[in-house]
Amino acid sequence: MRYVSTRGQAAELGFAEVLLAGLASDGGLYVPAEWPCLSDGVEGMTYAERAAQIMQPFVGDDIAAADLTAMCVDAYRTFAHPAVAPLIQIGDDHFVQELFHGPTLAFKDIALQLVGRLFEYVLAQQDRHVTIVGATSGDTGSAAIDGIKHCSYADIFILYPNGRTSEVQRRQMTTVDSPNVHVIAIDGSFDDCQDLVKAMFNDAAFRQRLSLSAVNSINWARVMAQVVYYATATDHLRGEVNFCVPSGNFGNVFSGWIAKRMGAPIGRLVVASNANDILTRFFNDNDMSTRAVVPSLSPSMDIQVSSNFERLLFEINDRDGGLTAEQLQRFRASGRLSIEADQRANDIDGVFTAARLDDGETLDVIRRTYALTGMLLDPHTAVGVGAAERVQPSIPGVMVTLATAHPAKFPDAVERATGIRPQLPLHLADLMERRERITELPNDLAAVQTFVERHAHR
Ligand SMILES: *Cc1c(COP(=O)(O)O)cnc(C)c1O
Repeated sequence: MRYVSTRGQAAELGFAEVLLAGLASDGGLYVPAEWPCLSDGVEGMTYAERAAQIMQPFVGDDIAAADLTAMCVDAYRTFAHPAVAPLIQIGDDHFVQELFHGPTLAFKDIALQLVGRLFEYVLAQQDRHVTIVGATSGDTGSAAIDGIKHCSYADIFILYPNGRTSEVQRRQMTTVDSPNVHVIAIDGSFDDCQDLVKAMFNDAAFRQRLSLSAVNSINWARVMAQVVYYATATDHLRGEVNFCVPSGNFGNVFSGWIAKRMGAPIGRLVVASNANDILTRFFNDNDMSTRAVVPSLSPSMDIQVSSNFERLLFEINDRDGGLTAEQLQRFRASGRLSIEADQRANDIDGVFTAARLDDGETLDVIRRTYALTGMLLDPHTAVGVGAAERVQPSIPGVMVTLATAHPAKFPDAVERATGIRPQLPLHLADLMERRERITELPNDLAAVQTFVERHAHR
């Protein structure tokens, strides 16, 4: 399988190179040169076996089939539920698919547990070492650390804004005792952390000396691994299935688009947003214009520019990279993007629907769902469940809302809505007693670079 850039200028690459490259050299994102067809699920396959079967065409010859299966088995063994992504019925035609049974209790584990193993495999093959750097406001950092902690060919440095993550989120990062894991508390905001990471990548000499790499949400392998649970849900349900997806960077719901494109019986994809509703405005009113980010009860969706949207734009443009690059440049300059009516008709209006919930509505969904079903929803999942309920009357068929975080990851909102404080699952029960390892650094590029240079194994 070859990969092309959404901006049409960068060289085509194979899977292993795309895995390590992250962003393409022309600033675009990599997508497969063609979309393979989904093979029928075989009765009795485990999640890991089905995952390997679905992903094999994407990795091509870069990874032997038996090795890919072994990595999937190993990755999904870390999940606390035998089905990995179980479906729970919460209404007549409404199911929740729980994607939070991984080590750090958010859906990002599904991709990052596998990505860590893919990195180890490909780097060992090439006898290379990389230094992964990233910024986090909470969920991504812990999932990335947990995925990479056993890698002997990669160090990982995660920057987070000191004092601005929840205690559970911080401890999930700082209590990992592994020599290749470095958690840095920056005296600054999340944006400061992101700027420091960008500056490290923009320092060409530093970037090359340390073989910098990233596992952020634009990484193709993450999007690929997320296709699997859409397919397993449709394997288990009858007829056409709609999905409702709590969305931020548009990675998760784009994986649903891929599953549909590969032939999974998927009807509509419902894009659920909180008050940061750029995606809702785009899908419902053709208005993609950026506004200031407002903090919400579902912080992992507090995003204004959804980086993975570029992959959909490329498809809408019939894979014209030049046009895609031009539109994105105009978007960056003007803060506005709109799509011609004929393009919308084919690729958007028949597939995507969007809805938004504010914090009050989100708490209301948590309260109501608990009263009706006894199930505790985290605030991100609640945005999805509320959006699904709102659009369901106008969409035929079964709805699956993706549960993207465990309620115990956001206990304050859940307690506010229901009076019940959700308990951490057994494997994290002693999280609050574990020893933390943190390095505090000022918001200063030289200080961070010196630290990374001193501690990377290379
Ligand atoms: C990351 C995250 C999201 C958003 O997913 P995208 O792929 O960025 O759209 C939603 N919910 C939770 C809990 C997350 O961690």
